Amino acid sequence: MEHDCLFCKIINKEIPSDFIYANDRVVVFRDINPQAPVHLLIVPKKHIRSINDITGEDSEVLAEMIMIAREMAQKESVAESGYKLFFNVERGGGQVIFHLHLHLVGGWEQ
Ligand code: AMP
Ligand code: ZN
Repeated sequence: MEHDCLFCKIINKEIPSDFIYANDRVVVFRDINPQAPVHLLIVPKKHIRSINDITGEDSEVLAEMIMIAREMAQKESVAESGYKLFFNVERGGGQVIFHLHLHLVGGWEQ
């Protein structure tokens, strides 16, 4: 765990948060400031600073995050209507929390 990392604290339950999904490697919780009717964050338990810091050994967890995102989209009933998955990368790319997370947004009116 990285000291002073908000998402590490959430993962370690030092800060309360409702996980809508968790396994040994990945957690999912709702964004506190949603930008869409459905806005989830898919987060590896391993502290990875940003997409710029991923290594070959992270490829499995990255693939798993996408599979879980797809599952969460089904669970949140946005799979058919459609959704976006994205990473903000570094400050210029809008990254504010430097613990890797995949955004899932959707649920807009058709
Ligand atoms: P990013 O801009 O990609 O770093 O995204 C960080 C996201 O984390 C933003 O959408 C924030 O609204 C969200 N966020 C910040 N603090 C919390 C928190 N305590 N619980 C859930 N989401 C959070
Ligand atoms: Zn962290």
